[in-house]
Amino acid sequence: MSHRILLIEDEAGLALTLGDRLAGEGYRVTHRADGRAGEQAALREGPFDAILLDLMLPAKSGFEVCRDLRAAGLDTPILMLTARDQLTDKVVGLKLGADDYLTKPFETAELLARLEALIRRYQRVPTTTTTTGTVQRFGDIEVDRRQVVIRKDGAVVALSARLYQLLLYFLDHPNELLTREHLLDTVWGFDAEVASRTVDVHLSWLRGKLETDPQRPRHFITVYGIGYKFIP
Ligand code: CA
Repeated sequence: MSHRILLIEDEAGLALTLGDRLAGEGYRVTHRADGRAGEQAALREGPFDAILLDLMLPAKSGFEVCRDLRAAGLDTPILMLTARDQLTDKVVGLKLGADDYLTKPFETAELLARLEALIRRYQRVPTTTTTTGTVQRFGDIEVDRRQVVIRKDGAVVALSARLYQLLLYFLDHPNELLTREHLLDTVWGFDAEVASRTVDVHLSWLRGKLETDPQRPRHFITVYGIGYKFIP
């Protein structure tokens, strides 16, 4: 299964070599050359398994992009890239929600190792939220809570911890109308920093992962103006 990486980097040469190298390692890479376009891609073209975010970017800085993505509820791991080796930058970056930091120039092997570690950590779904229940099925989806494995048509589907929690919540509340606010409270935990469109973004990702035709969902249904309903 190939992981999707969003590369937000304005240095054309670096973006090109890095993109090639990542593709060579089996990653699917989406590249954006400025902060604003990168942020839009992160919110609308995801889910990505990780984001490589340059610090100094046109239109919007890496710091601002990082801060705003976290405020929007996006929990995709972010590896920040910077030309500056200053402690204050690192501290600010990590405070704003970056998961790791790499100073240019860096060895590509180092970046690949860090990236892999971030993705592995992110995709380790929390076993504490699972019950002792068995395998649940809907459509061509199979959810094995004991093993924490999701399959679509027999193929394993990787979900982030948040998407997995959201999925479990739907599974436990079939055919119920769930408002955005309720989902935010229960799946995210009440957090004023997180906007209610966060739920919409995650729903579109869940559909992208699990629905046969995400444009015409059969299981994760929008109830306009209110929220969502899961139809097994
Ligand atoms: Ca730059």
